[in-house]
Amino acid sequence: MNAQIELVSARSVRGADPVPDLASADRIIMSTSGGKDSIVAMDEGVRLADQARVRDRIVVLHIDLGRTPRGHTVEWPGTVDLARRQAAHYGLPFEVRRSAKWTSLVHRIRARGQFPHVLSRFCTSDMKRAVAHRFITEQVNALGITGRPARVVHVMGFRAEESRARARRPAVEVDGRASSGRRTVTQWYPVLRWSEAEVWQRIRENGLPYHWAYDAGMSRLSCSLCVLASVPDLECAARLRPELAREYADLEKEMGVSFRRELSMAEVIRRAGGSA
Ligand code: SF4
Repeated sequence: MNAQIELVSARSVRGADPVPDLASADRIIMSTSGGKDSIVAMDEGVRLADQARVRDRIVVLHIDLGRTPRGHTVEWPGTVDLARRQAAHYGLPFEVRRSAKWTSLVHRIRARGQFPHVLSRFCTSDMKRAVAHRFITEQVNALGITGRPARVVHVMGFRAEESRARARRPAVEVDGRASSGRRTVTQWYPVLRWSEAEVWQRIRENGLPYHWAYDAGMSRLSCSLCVLASVPDLECAARLRPELAREYADLEKEMGVSFRRELSMAEVIRRAGGSA
């Protein structure tokens, strides 16, 4: 497809999405997985925060999904360092948090006896959302605001093209689950209507730091072996990280369940040219 056609995104057809009132935010938390959408959401978020003169209220959060029982990172190697460099690119404070309960996502999967799937995203609820909510509490406690709820804006790099659920979201919404009498949390997705081509264009134009796994053939980042990934991405990941793929395949045998109902990790390894 010609680049000009790809750049005709929902954003260019529907116009700009709304932006939360950043000037009245007490804290702006930018979550980054280290992926391409996160860094462009950060770039756009910083640009608009600068217009509101509130860059000093931003903190960058990376949630580390840990190391497997065999010592492999669940995410792509180098992701934490990259997320740190992404924050440093804008001179922003950077924080890493992990689940207090689970050593890694693989430990969580093992304890549950099943892999996550589209209708049971315990990977995100237990390993990411719970950790993000705890971080928000930490931030609100540090602010020490009394007499009114603290106003927190939580920035994430969701894009509508990635799933139907994301396509239904507004670019700005109050997060009822994360809000309480002490805080109002507004979720903001600055690149929600951006196309993939627009994301890459911004990365190239602004020289933003991105992960080597994209150049090695991956289309998405986060967990190297994501239950929701495309088959080509899984095959690519199994080629790039054969020991991790082997650990997932052994976990399938141990739990007696397949990585995905229609696709086992053993099959992914075979398709990737390895021996299962
Ligand atoms: S990348 Fe995939 S497997 Fe990992 S937490 Fe997200 S949805 Fe779950």
